[in-house]
Amino acid sequence: MTRAEATELLFRMPWPELRDAARQVCREARNNRVFVRGLIEFSNVCRRNCRYCGLRRENRALRRYRLSAASILAAAREAAAAGADTIVLQSGEAQRRPDWLAEVVASIRRDTGLPVTLSVGEQPHAWYALWKEAGASRFLIRHETADPRLYAALHPGYTLARRREAQDALAALGYELGTGFLVGVPGQRPETLADDILLTRDMEAAMCGVGPFIPQAATPLAGAPHGSIPLTLRAMAVLRLASPKLNIPATTALASLDPARGQRDGLEAGANVLMPSFTPRTHQEVYRIYDGKARVDMSAVRRAIEAAGFDHALPPENAA
Ligand code: SF4
Repeated sequence: MTRAEATELLFRMPWPELRDAARQVCREARNNRVFVRGLIEFSNVCRRNCRYCGLRRENRALRRYRLSAASILAAAREAAAAGADTIVLQSGEAQRRPDWLAEVVASIRRDTGLPVTLSVGEQPHAWYALWKEAGASRFLIRHETADPRLYAALHPGYTLARRREAQDALAALGYELGTGFLVGVPGQRPETLADDILLTRDMEAAMCGVGPFIPQAATPLAGAPHGSIPLTLRAMAVLRLASPKLNIPATTALASLDPARGQRDGLEAGANVLMPSFTPRTHQEVYRIYDGKARVDMSAVRRAIEAAGFDHALPPENAA
């Protein structure tokens, strides 16, 4: 797929044809199975100041938290019992004791036997290696936008080149790499979305989240309009055609903008992953990357999977 072809698909192909083609390719390449990643947001402390994110350092009004290792392990056990096939440990980008996180990873591996994904931002490569050694096998670190100028504008003090370097280092260590990008963030040009899709394909990512931008009141982009759901779905569908085997989540951001249909529509547009939250309820409220964030729990996951006609390997509801 060339940039011109991706742009044509993104902006000109009739939606029913594009959606059905993506669903068909997904079915052929990934069977009809939805994967369920259990998300634990274990800290909202962050040293960065991304202009779209409510966890940014300068948001001094936000109550900050760090879960203890025991709370994380309890949440991981709950996710495993509910049928999650992977545990995802996510936090803001902060200084941390790398050996503490290594021990958390190892204890989840010992206790649940499930693969562990980390999503903790740019860190020293030696720490990535330590966590890999401890049993983490996947790493989510989104490129956010393929436009270097926009990346620098959205992430003061950081560059897309540096982000790509971190992604390459993780891949070289043997992690399965997850990336992702925003749709409709202020300053994004239409052709950049085609570049996002081709960059994801070319970096051979194993997973890519495509989420509509949603403003957060305590950020410099507070007054900007949110990204379009139809364009987000179109980007997911073209991504599926460009990278048939990719894991594509129907994101929580989609559910936040359209609680009734967002994730179902995502699955029908080529997604094959859902990420319910197992963050303790008391802390979910303050993991406030954007406003109006939906609580995606296992009931919501089942509803979306069944409505979209996918298979899953979840235990019966009353056993979860
Ligand atoms: S997007 Fe990530 S790195 Fe940026 S401020 Fe938010 S939590 Fe921190």
